Amino acid sequence: MNIHEYQGKSILKRFGVGIQEGIVAETPEEAVEAAKLLQQQTGTGWWVVKAQIHAGGRGKGGGVKLAKSLDEVKEIAGKILGMTLVTPQTGPEGKFVRKILVAQDVYYPGAEPTKEFYMSVLLDRQTGRNIIIYTTEGGMDIEEVAHATPEKILREEIDPSVGLQGFQARKIAYNLGLTGEANKQMVKFVSALYKAYDSIDASQFEINPVLKTSDSKIIAVDAKVNLDENGLFRHPDILEMRDVTEEDATEVEAGEHNLNYVKLDGNIGCMVNGAGLAMATMDIIKLAGGDPANFLDVGGTADAARVEQAFRIILKDENVKAILVNIFGGIVRCDRVAQGIVDAYNNIGEIRVPIIVRLQGTNAVEAKRIIDESGLRVKSVILLQEAADSVKEVLA
Ligand code: GDP
Ligand code: MN
Repeated sequence: MNIHEYQGKSILKRFGVGIQEGIVAETPEEAVEAAKLLQQQTGTGWWVVKAQIHAGGRGKGGGVKLAKSLDEVKEIAGKILGMTLVTPQTGPEGKFVRKILVAQDVYYPGAEPTKEFYMSVLLDRQTGRNIIIYTTEGGMDIEEVAHATPEKILREEIDPSVGLQGFQARKIAYNLGLTGEANKQMVKFVSALYKAYDSIDASQFEINPVLKTSDSKIIAVDAKVNLDENGLFRHPDILEMRDVTEEDATEVEAGEHNLNYVKLDGNIGCMVNGAGLAMATMDIIKLAGGDPANFLDVGGTADAARVEQAFRIILKDENVKAILVNIFGGIVRCDRVAQGIVDAYNNIGEIRVPIIVRLQGTNAVEAKRIIDESGLRVKSVILLQEAADSVKEVLA
């Protein structure tokens, strides 16, 4: 699950990580009130208005703007709220902006120049360990840094049995070239950031930029937080931060019916029981020259109601040209599933695309008979190869 920058920062603050302070707003008037309050609280002279969407690269797309007066705050807020923001991460269709963060301007000149770093805590799936990735080249696109100057990207691996050690945080501060007060502040920043990441079962905490201010504070100017959904039941307060308007509507609906559905770009809809079989089915479709329109695991109980719900969700996608149902009847009996498919089909009415059904396992032969005798536009097959061939036929 992703959350907004302002929510990520509120979590960071709770764990003692320094942040660029800000107040969220939904109208230009609220933005002005937020700016006034922020001035009282932080003494900031200028503000930045930042679009809150679940995507990065907002600065490049015109979603982050400096305001030098309250009038400018109002004007910029009016422009950003309600805009469809296109960034390198949103895709060409962009994202509608419903909220903005009015933040203190933290780049004001002072005793020393400001300096931007990059820091990300994440799970390295190769080693199964948390790592901190960091570089002095902050504020820019990290992929570009990795491409042009890979030697500048440093990593620190954390041993899960002891957690982040003091010497590691000091090494990071040293490698970032910091001395004196800024070095001390960075050690604190890294330790608190790791604690926040670890405590809330995050899978990524990406801070770009981490800023050394002109008075040697170290703060998070941005916060991209990704949470492990399997850990969310332990954090009801964070679960409340979910913003479904930022998610794919069909995926949200599937989730409400406990269907594991992920929309993809292809044209062959898939309905499968079990994540492993679902992935293998997608491979089969690819090998047959097609592209899966979705991943869908209906789970163990493929009864008529669930099958109907799954059909309805798959059919919301206009690109779907055919549906491949691939169910293995281990505990669930194939004849029951077949009857479920027939009932679901009749409940929905005419389905606009051909359906290929492969039922294998307990009572598979009986299941095939039920499908064949239904008189519906459903083709039943027993072997996976036959299923692939049928997909090819549909595409031809
Ligand atoms: P992103 O583009 O979605 O990653 O959004 P960020 O929160 O990282 O902001 C983008 C850029 O806006 C940063 O890299 C900064 O250069 C700039 N920015 C952010 N906060 C301030 C600020 O307080 N003052 C000024 N002048 N620029 C800022
Ligand atoms: Mn950023």
